[in-house]
Amino acid sequence: MSAAPRETYAPEETERLGAELAGELRPGDVVLIGGELGAGKTTFVRGASRALGVRAPVSSPTFTIGQRYPAPTPIAHVDLYRVADLAGEDPDLLAEYLGPETIAFVEWPRGFEAQLQAFARISHRVLLEHAGGDRRRVVIERLAAG
Ligand code: ADP
Ligand code: MG
Repeated sequence: MSAAPRETYAPEETERLGAELAGELRPGDVVLIGGELGAGKTTFVRGASRALGVRAPVSSPTFTIGQRYPAPTPIAHVDLYRVADLAGEDPDLLAEYLGPETIAFVEWPRGFEAQLQAFARISHRVLLEHAGGDRRRVVIERLAAG
């Protein structure tokens, strides 16, 4: 998938972009998803997760940093919004979610890429931006296979 910006006009379209990306993912991949609050990160993850066979409703993790969903390849959805500093957290925290058997989506990755990389391969970087009303600009960058 190219890094050319795409535009969506409704949540369903952002879900569809997530589903498109899902077709490129394999076990061990980690997809970083950046963008402001309400930009559609969780919406994108929902579309991707459904396409990967998740049947449970996909929403923002609330009391934990992440959520795991059973699927042919297990899916993890991590949200680091409230994590100020991963270094101060239990080192096993990420290990619960990231690994070679799992496809993981990480919202608010900010400065945590190096720590994430210790657990699994970052395969794509997605950026969502508000573009007025229900419009969103979506950039999906595929990183070199590692
Ligand atoms: P984030 O995880 O980035 O905080 P969410 O996906 O939880 O964002 O929420 C995005 C909100 O914006 C939802 O209420 C969704 O219905 C709404 N929305 C409106 N238009 C779009 C669009 N084009 N793409 C994604 N979400 C949209
Ligand atoms: Mg979210």
